[in-house]
Amino acid sequence: MSERKKRDYYEILGVSRNADIREIKTAYRKLAFQYHPDRNPGDKEAEEKFKEAAEAYEVLSDPQKRELYDRYGHEGLKGTGFHPYSDIDDIFSSFSDIFEDFFGFSTGRGRRRSSRGADISRKIDITLMEAAQGIEKEVEVERLSVCSNCNGSGSRPGTYPQSCPVCHGRGQVSTRAGFMVISTTCNRCRGKGTVIVDKCEVCSGSGTVPQKKTLKVKIPPGVDTGMQLRLSGEGESAPGGGRPGDLYLVINVVPEEGMERDGEDIHSEVKISYIEAILGTSVRIKTIWGERDLEIRPGTQPQDVIKIPEGGMPRLNGYGRGDHIVHIKVEIPKKISSEEERLLKELAEISNIKTTKKSKGFFRR
Ligand SMILES: [Zn+2]
Ligand SMILES: [Zn+2]
Repeated sequence: MSERKKRDYYEILGVSRNADIREIKTAYRKLAFQYHPDRNPGDKEAEEKFKEAAEAYEVLSDPQKRELYDRYGHEGLKGTGFHPYSDIDDIFSSFSDIFEDFFGFSTGRGRRRSSRGADISRKIDITLMEAAQGIEKEVEVERLSVCSNCNGSGSRPGTYPQSCPVCHGRGQVSTRAGFMVISTTCNRCRGKGTVIVDKCEVCSGSGTVPQKKTLKVKIPPGVDTGMQLRLSGEGESAPGGGRPGDLYLVINVVPEEGMERDGEDIHSEVKISYIEAILGTSVRIKTIWGERDLEIRPGTQPQDVIKIPEGGMPRLNGYGRGDHIVHIKVEIPKKISSEEERLLKELAEISNIKTTKKSKGFFRR
């Protein structure tokens, strides 16, 4: 910036020498609006005024600098390392907070908002019994975590990202098409506004490293295949300190041999012999709550069903459980011994049942 006669900071902001910080801020805000480069594209004078106002604001809003300035004028600030802004982007990076305050985020300037980390999803297999009773599972996930070497900045420790040379920190590049100005995300910095000059040697500049972590997950009773459990904040980390994404666990209930699930009900099958069907018996069956004995009443018919109330899955959003429905299959033997055949023939005679004469040799081979 060319040397020019420096104006008085109070004069620049148009405030009195005993203005308080609120008046100073309000005055600066007004000027920043008025001379904002976005509203005055290509206007060199506006740009100078914008820089001037920023400089005045920086000094007068800082009690220490203000005191030095009040006492010694511009000379007083020379020893403090304070130097006027030469670049608009310096202003935007130094004043990012206040610009966010002034203009909201819509100006596309100032500090980039850090983005949220990506969500990740993992399939988790559980047995039907585990789904019924609920279980705490350990899930190992590999996800991107903040690089501890650079604390997520992506820059080699001791170095800092620099303003993007293509978009000058805006994150956006504008192209003029007739009357319209089309803004697109800057390719060089991918909208971040900064580029890493000296990359962190651990994460190669990404700010994140893949990391395995074992999570303990409580799976509630009653879940079914396809349901998702969301673990807030357990997804990928966001480079630059943004909010991490979420982890979605997609439940897969592995089918259990001999059991079929229908919502909250469980269906299974029990095979009994015709003799058991006639005389009644007790069978050991498998349920999702463990093994148990099931009474088969005498005279049970093929295709009969026996309901075990509350023997099914717990209801996820309510009380109680579904039922376990046992389907009875009566088996007729294809082969019998000659002793069995003799007894059955006797039974047939008692019952006045006409049976086939040729049965001998047909049953036994
Ligand atoms: Zn790193
Ligand atoms: Zn850029």
